[in-house]
Amino acid sequence: MQVWFRNVRLAISTISAGMYVTLMTMVHTFRRGAFAAHFAYPELPVPIKPRYRGFHRFDLTTCIGCDKCAKACPVDCIYIEKEKNTQGKGFLVKGFKIDYTKCMFCSLCVDPCPVDCIFMGSTHDLSCFTRDGCVVDYAKLPLEVSWGQATLNPTSVYESKKIALPVWVKPPDPPKAAAPAPAPAA
Ligand code: SF4
Ligand code: SF4
Repeated sequence: MQVWFRNVRLAISTISAGMYVTLMTMVHTFRRGAFAAHFAYPELPVPIKPRYRGFHRFDLTTCIGCDKCAKACPVDCIYIEKEKNTQGKGFLVKGFKIDYTKCMFCSLCVDPCPVDCIFMGSTHDLSCFTRDGCVVDYAKLPLEVSWGQATLNPTSVYESKKIALPVWVKPPDPPKAAAPAPAPAA
């Protein structure tokens, strides 16, 4: 009988504790007002925490193409295209793609970078209609976008994927006709 009463008392106290948390959350939510009343997204963006891990920030001008970030990535979603620098030491980075269909925002690519040119950024809204739109080439974006001073938005990603072809290319001149051989002397 004693055990039965103890169990009833325990059940009542745990349910009361749970209901207290629910009630306090309800009161706070009521006092604060609706979420949408504060953050009219996207006009008023939702504030994020300082250590939020969003889409990356990358500085092409500092990157030395050492591949350390790509090797540290557990899902192999960083693709670096580079070529040997013929004017000096190191590599020239021609492409720095991150496939966001695979990236899990773990931030493991940030720490190994010896020159601090890759960080987790604060952008969280990069919606796209195709899988191709999820592969962002940071080397082709304007620097202020890739370095996080302007928003990384679907339009800038789309613009970076446009292939600019020359309007007209001068065709090579046709080969000149060989000069006639001089007539033999009589
Ligand atoms: S955040 Fe993680 S998964 Fe994404 S690119 Fe960096 S290491 Fe790879
Ligand atoms: S670790 Fe840093 S310097 Fe090396 S390739 Fe990655 S971003 Fe560039």
